[in-house]
Amino acid sequence: TEKSDVINFNPGPAKIDASVMAKAQTELLNYRNLGFGVLEMSHRSAEFIDIVEQAKTNLRELMKIPDNYKILFLQGGATGQFSAVPLNLLNLSSDATADYIVTGTWSAKAAKEAEKFGNINIVHPKLKKYTSIPAEETWQLNPNAAYLYYCDNETVNGVEFHFAPQAGNVPIIADMSSNILSKPVDVSKFGAIIAGAQKNIGCAGVTLVIIRDDLIGHQLKECPAVLDYKLQADMNSLYNTPPSYSIYLTGLVLEWIKNSGGVMSMAKRSAIKSQLIYSVINNSNGFYHCMIDDDCRSRINLPFRVGGPGGDQELESLFLERTKQANMVGLKGHRSVGGIRASLYNAVTIEETQKLADLMLAFQQEHA
Ligand code: PLP
Repeated sequence: TEKSDVINFNPGPAKIDASVMAKAQTELLNYRNLGFGVLEMSHRSAEFIDIVEQAKTNLRELMKIPDNYKILFLQGGATGQFSAVPLNLLNLSSDATADYIVTGTWSAKAAKEAEKFGNINIVHPKLKKYTSIPAEETWQLNPNAAYLYYCDNETVNGVEFHFAPQAGNVPIIADMSSNILSKPVDVSKFGAIIAGAQKNIGCAGVTLVIIRDDLIGHQLKECPAVLDYKLQADMNSLYNTPPSYSIYLTGLVLEWIKNSGGVMSMAKRSAIKSQLIYSVINNSNGFYHCMIDDDCRSRINLPFRVGGPGGDQELESLFLERTKQANMVGLKGHRSVGGIRASLYNAVTIEETQKLADLMLAFQQEHA
């Protein structure tokens, strides 16, 4: 099977556009006629500094990041940031308190990690299942909180915010690991945006942090150097050896997004792709069932059951078998949710998504 024959719906690490992979392949052994590749390059060399600067410039342009925000490329995954956020920001509150919205697996993990370092307040009644966003009127926000944290797109559960939470003067910290660069975002409304790269902006190994200048420099004294925003910002993310190849690949993906029409184009494609699948689900007379409330259904990770609300195990196995025969991979739902999950990241095309929608229709006709 050729790479191009496979339709990759993996939840992450996930599909990277073939043109990006081809460029990386070409440059693997010989980057810009240096006679060696980025994997073998000093992170202090002029060539590598140029890779970092170019990636930052492109990201700033794509996301219209204001000048008073720094861009950091860190290690430790988005999970590392679950620790870094409280370690760097809890000092903004006199009593080390922070507010969290918990709408799924990832924000729950972030809140649990933060509890090691401070007083964490979940601003709404705990959800029994992660299929909705608690109404804003019910949030009990603490005006003295260091920050309000939430996950903009819950990759496992398929819950996405279609609005930006607000908390007065309290900075908003958003985990956008799975939907960054898939929609326009007004960065100035955020204190910080964090994102692991392995879904929409490259490969595993690098985590992006976009952070407002005044939030830098408040780290707890226990904060490890590699997670210290001040140190990393002062050193241009080069305090220690950075995940150099991952940063390089992110640079290639950013270039690809730029050449593909930028964020608006990704947002348009995302709307079309998710609509293709949701409309099959909505018109299936209950054969396909999405458990997520209409107003917060993710455009990126679409979980659904086959054969009714609880899912019919036999039908779901058959469905997955059928997608496998059609060269589709990565559609099995997360073990904590079950069923099916289609992940429609930027690199997944409308045509590929249409093939999945067609397969769903055909499968329904055969089995309903
Ligand atoms: N946050 C979200 C929204 C994710 O989807 C993931 C990973 O899948 C994480 C955090 C954790 O990222 P990492 O595995 O890079 O630590």
